[in-house]
Amino acid sequence: MEAISDVYTVPHEHLDLCATIGQIAREKIAPRSAEIDERAEYPWDVRKLLAEQDILGLPFPIEYGGTGTGTLMLNMAVEEIAKVDASCALILMVQELGTLPIQLFGSEELKERFLPRCATGEWSPAFALSEPEAGSDPGGMQTSAVKDGDEWVITGTKNWISNLGIADFYICFAVTDRENRRMTAFVVEADRQGFSVGKLEHKLGIRASPTGQPVFDGVRVPDANVIGEVGKGLSVALATLERTRLGAAAQAVGIAQGATDYAVAYARERRQFGKPINEFQGISFKLADMEIRTAAARELLYKACAMADRGEPGRGKYSSMAKVFCSDTAMAVTVEAVQVLGGYGYVKEYPLERMMRDAKITQIYEGTNEIQRLVISRALK
Ligand SMILES: Cc1cc2nc3c(=O)[nH]c(=O)nc-3n(C[C@H](O)[C@H](O)[C@H](O)COP(=O)(O)OP(=O)(O)OC[C@H]3O[C@@H](n4cnc5c(N)ncnc54)[C@H](O)[C@@H]3O)c2cc1C
Repeated sequence: MEAISDVYTVPHEHLDLCATIGQIAREKIAPRSAEIDERAEYPWDVRKLLAEQDILGLPFPIEYGGTGTGTLMLNMAVEEIAKVDASCALILMVQELGTLPIQLFGSEELKERFLPRCATGEWSPAFALSEPEAGSDPGGMQTSAVKDGDEWVITGTKNWISNLGIADFYICFAVTDRENRRMTAFVVEADRQGFSVGKLEHKLGIRASPTGQPVFDGVRVPDANVIGEVGKGLSVALATLERTRLGAAAQAVGIAQGATDYAVAYARERRQFGKPINEFQGISFKLADMEIRTAAARELLYKACAMADRGEPGRGKYSSMAKVFCSDTAMAVTVEAVQVLGGYGYVKEYPLERMMRDAKITQIYEGTNEIQRLVISRALK
């Protein structure tokens, strides 16, 4: 049996900052949400706002221009933004996903070259691991990198990459030793010759975040753009995802809480059979269950974040457990929230159908929930 690990406390400064971020989200982001979803339009204005408010500095240590406030604070911020808009929360999540490989494994030169300009929000990254034939199993990767003097030549097409066409650079994983199935992580700047933006997807949810296929056609990068050791790219990817899947969990908790809050307020006002619908037990118990599940998901998320901040053993399992539980919660809660609104839940005039569509991705990306269950079950042996 596993020993019970330490609990967590949320510092007052975190709570204050969260309240401020929540207010910004409600006042400045929420009014844009329906429109950017409908148009599937990357919200540059929101990105600028998050940069101006230093929110994009949350994933970074102080020495590289960030806030140095850690994983729990970062994910509390993701949650606050996702309460009103999951696509906009993803702007902050990708800021971590696409720079954590450099933060964890990069040379000092790479850190200085890329991190400060991401911490200010001037630059934005992308994380390019998945491919058309290699999703859950990165071992099936086709993209390759071949050494030529003191440069590497990268060739291949990635798939499902968030921030496509927006990113200033891509963390590209490529096979460097096919016989031994070894890959390496590279930084590829978007203005390098041979790089192009391929097909963009039309998606069910998170429509304001562009997703698609970056194409690397003989792109040359210097040796200095290798992240960590040659041949150790899989470790770079796995260590990154272990931490960043907490972002997907936080996004899910935010969506679930946003949907619950909206449904609670609606049920207070909507009258049928001469009284507010929240006086029918069929509705009030639904709302209670939504609140319970969301609160339980948040506790698991915050504990997993605190374990990550402390570098505690077992944090990987907790990160996977939080990701599964929070995303399954977001899906279940948003389906119920739509039901509380009846027909009004089903139309675009109200935000709940968008929240339900946005919730689905949290069960898929950052490693599907099936893969997380595989990881968790292996950790039990
Ligand atoms: C909107 C969006 C944004 C994304 N952003 C990024 C990004 O920025 N960077 C990036 O690299 N990737 C990104 N992804 C890719 C995402 O991580 C993959 O979609 C995911 O890892 C699953 O891969 P796949 O889609 O190829 O599904 P597959 O791997 O083909 O899986 C199909 C189904 O089989 C199941 N399955 C597979 N293997 C097993 C197994 N061993 N046991 C049980 N079930 C299994 C899966 O759980 C899934 O249900 C994004 C995807 C989407 C849709």
